[in-house]
Amino acid sequence: MVSENAVWFAELTMKEVKEAAEANKVIILPVGSVEEHGFHLPLCTDSVQPEYVAAEAAKKTDSLIAPPLKYGICTATRIFPGTISISFQSLYRITREIIEEFIRNGFKRFLILSGHADEEQMAALRLAAHRVMWKHREEAEKRKLRIMVCSDYDFAYELRGKYFDEKDGHGGTIETSRVMAIKPNLIKGKGRKNFQKLPKFEVIVDSRELLPEGIRGDPTVASAEKGKFINDYIIGELVKLIEELKK
Ligand SMILES: [Zn+2]
Repeated sequence: MVSENAVWFAELTMKEVKEAAEANKVIILPVGSVEEHGFHLPLCTDSVQPEYVAAEAAKKTDSLIAPPLKYGICTATRIFPGTISISFQSLYRITREIIEEFIRNGFKRFLILSGHADEEQMAALRLAAHRVMWKHREEAEKRKLRIMVCSDYDFAYELRGKYFDEKDGHGGTIETSRVMAIKPNLIKGKGRKNFQKLPKFEVIVDSRELLPEGIRGDPTVASAEKGKFINDYIIGELVKLIEELKK
């Protein structure tokens, strides 16, 4: 039998994987980015967060985590040092191929969870999931195959306006607090607040004037306690999604 606290797919043996597929376990695929997050947060910020909440949600729901994708599509922050952005086609293709391979191995329930919530990233993941579902539409129509795509920020941002500033964003209070709660050793100083807005419709390549330190929000009021509160809220919401996926 697969041991109860084994949540990382790649740590299983051949025999355990077969049993996990027969048990119809949900596969969570965390997707991140390598992206600047100001002077105070690491480049792996968008990977650290989904991998942590995925692991906690997987333990509570007896699910498995696929080896994470650690690169993503970053447009707004590409001008800053450290951002390593891949193309829409690359993210779309690798996601599609990975899910297809899990299906070939007998898995039928997937949660693609991105810590990087940019529109282009989410669109590539959704399109990949849709094409997979379309290819297997007989199973999909019978709901034998199910895929959900979301960002942990779909849930984290529900807390804006209530507990956090409505305009909090990239590298702000929420994101800084979450990393403080998960990997405090990766935080360097407090950062500085910035609430300037990127234009909604105009496409820009140099965002340095609007994001002088590469962030938006107020990291100076972040804390590990706030981060734990946000992470726990997200884990609770993910558990609900996974329970729904199992049906
Ligand atoms: Zn981020």
